[in-house]
Amino acid sequence: MGLESSKRVLVTGGAGFLGSFLCERLLAEGCEVLCVDNFFTGTRHNIAHMLDNHRFELLRHDVCFPLYVEVDEIYNLACPASPVHYQFDPVQTTKTSVIGAINMLGLAKRLKVRILQASTSEVYGDPSVHPQTEEYWGNVNPVGVRSCYDEGKRCAETLFFDYRRQHNMPIKVARIFNTYGPRMHPNDGRVVSNFVTQALKGEDITIYGDGQQTRSFCYVTDLIDGLYRLMQSSSDFTGPCNLGNPNEFTIEELARTVIELTGSKSKLVRKPLPSDDPRQRQPEISKAKEKLGWMPKIPLREGLKETVKYFEDRLRTA
Ligand code: NAD
Ligand code: UDP
Repeated sequence: MGLESSKRVLVTGGAGFLGSFLCERLLAEGCEVLCVDNFFTGTRHNIAHMLDNHRFELLRHDVCFPLYVEVDEIYNLACPASPVHYQFDPVQTTKTSVIGAINMLGLAKRLKVRILQASTSEVYGDPSVHPQTEEYWGNVNPVGVRSCYDEGKRCAETLFFDYRRQHNMPIKVARIFNTYGPRMHPNDGRVVSNFVTQALKGEDITIYGDGQQTRSFCYVTDLIDGLYRLMQSSSDFTGPCNLGNPNEFTIEELARTVIELTGSKSKLVRKPLPSDDPRQRQPEISKAKEKLGWMPKIPLREGLKETVKYFEDRLRTA
């Protein structure tokens, strides 16, 4: 750990969309950061601006294999997150969630340090309770195309709580709802990156199904603030804790807003709805408000403007 006194924090999946913003935030808080990533969906480009920082270290490693390092805190974010990416190699997705969690929990147990799991609103599946509270157990298909991710993440939550019960470990579980912003992967197939790139290229905007399904979109820096606060929260608060923006929009509303903000001439076209696509999703965040003093601040239009700028730059330099 060296003689320096700053906290040394491990971020798995640190070269990804959320991970790279978390690394930045931790550096800004004065921490040393060990970013671990196998670059399955993450890129060196996302973290290039941190490589010169002497408090930032990068390690190419797959969390499905044990990791022997010395750190004071662990954020476990490693896992492909978009349906296109996690369905590309579904067996690997489940392995990353489950074996990755076992390896990182084992590391945390040896070091006796706090560990935070990036879980997901997908643990609620296609929810029959709306908005979703942490007490809701979910409605998940165990054998569908989303199951590798949904059930993998559910099993990871189980492991976190069993390590807590069996070994009294200081765990934190965040259930993250749809998050968007700069550094989203342009080909991840997620709705915000798809719509923004389609609008900027003047291509058709692909609405799956009738476009009346809903999502609640949280801007990335708001979400990272929630993760950071959760890690710092009182040791008796384990979560699961919903983190997301409760403002709910239909997918068609999102498409129209993107067209307006980009001034695009793109047309809306309908495509088939992927199977097991949740009909509605909105986080109930009173726990995060009460326990973390957290709530999202950035409205959708403002966050979308930043996201559009990012994709404009990418397209210009591509
Ligand atoms: P992302 O794909 O950009 O980042 C995931 C990172 O994990 C990538 O850098 C990838 O290369 C890395 N990774 C994948 N498998 C790995 C492995 N076996 N070993 C080491 N690294 C590996 O996705 P993201 O949106 O930044 O998501 C980060 C975390 O947050 C994920 O765990 C995801 O499930 C969770 N989450 C994200 C959202 C969202 O809307 N972005 C919503 C809910 C949950
Ligand atoms: N979606 C869409 N067009 C696209 C991509 C996604 O209509 O080009 C829809 C998708 O069917 C889903 C919603 O947008 O109803 C959010 O999809 P995303 O993949 O971003 O995330 P998730 O379904 O995991 O919330």
